[in-house]
Amino acid sequence: MNGFCVECGVSTEHTVNGLCMTCFLKDRMLVSLPDHVDLFVCTSCGQFLWRGEYQSMAPEKAISLSAKFALNIIKEAKLVSSTSTIVPRDNYNYAVTVNCKLAIADFEADASASTIVRVKNTVCKICSRRTGNYYEAILQIRTSEKTLSQEMQDEVLEKVERFVDDAATTNPNAFITKMEIVPGGVDVYLSMIALGRELTKELGDIYCAETDESSKLVGQTRDGQDMYRVSYLVRLPEFHLGDVVRYGKKYYLLTRVSNSGGKIKSLNNFADMTVRRPNMPELKVYAKSTELETADVISQSSGEIQVMDPTNYSVKDILVPRDAVIGDTVKVVRIDGILYYVPQ
Ligand SMILES: [Zn+2]
Ligand SMILES: [Zn+2]
Repeated sequence: MNGFCVECGVSTEHTVNGLCMTCFLKDRMLVSLPDHVDLFVCTSCGQFLWRGEYQSMAPEKAISLSAKFALNIIKEAKLVSSTSTIVPRDNYNYAVTVNCKLAIADFEADASASTIVRVKNTVCKICSRRTGNYYEAILQIRTSEKTLSQEMQDEVLEKVERFVDDAATTNPNAFITKMEIVPGGVDVYLSMIALGRELTKELGDIYCAETDESSKLVGQTRDGQDMYRVSYLVRLPEFHLGDVVRYGKKYYLLTRVSNSGGKIKSLNNFADMTVRRPNMPELKVYAKSTELETADVISQSSGEIQVMDPTNYSVKDILVPRDAVIGDTVKVVRIDGILYYVPQ
């Protein structure tokens, strides 16, 4: 059991390569750093290149991490912990000293090394795509009407933007390259084919819209794969939630639109009815929700109210659902000269 140092002969239980700790550490450089370490920063988004990926982190952290990552430690030692001190020389060069606690067999030792971290300007792939107007898909939002109304355009684009923002929280490659107002709608240029595909499904479901897609071979990637650009068409129907529609020969309020179809409520007897998606194009808009008239309520009884006709101030009796909660005014629609109550 009696160990000793082969260099100085001292008796010790603990030796490293046959040496006592004093002899082992003597004149030995435990850690070293190269003369300089390059750290790449994207000038556009400010993210640092760290282990092959651009990541957002504080400059001090990026600088100390890149110095620490470049450390050479002798094989007998293990890094227990380290701290760094950073002294800027100018905006691009930082003198960094890394102070290390090392474990060598049963011993602990301190060591330090210094280097210059040089911050190099570059542009990351995502930013270069953004600035280069890169896109893989075009989402063509159109309408069955003559023109896409400003309200609809705002509503749909808000959904598109929110969808892409959500996608971007997990995938930095997801972005909108540009939006372009075109006759009859808007074109949205998207960075990823998947975004176009998912948005088309989403908008198609929300609005019960017709959708279509077509792709075009635009070239090859650097590794020889075919590169496609895909156009997605979403044709928004004329009808919209809250509109009065004609279906068959009768009139209804459109109360629900979903991926499976729609729900309509009869203006005659307020019975609900389901319309399957393939039949939805048969709905013809009679009055948009924004075109409904407002009538003052004069009196009410169960299942019926008296309102003042907004055009000639005559008093009219109109049917309402028995459980309807009636306020001071109601929405009405005029069909063949007769006013009908429109539930809200
Ligand atoms: Zn010794
Ligand atoms: Zn960037």
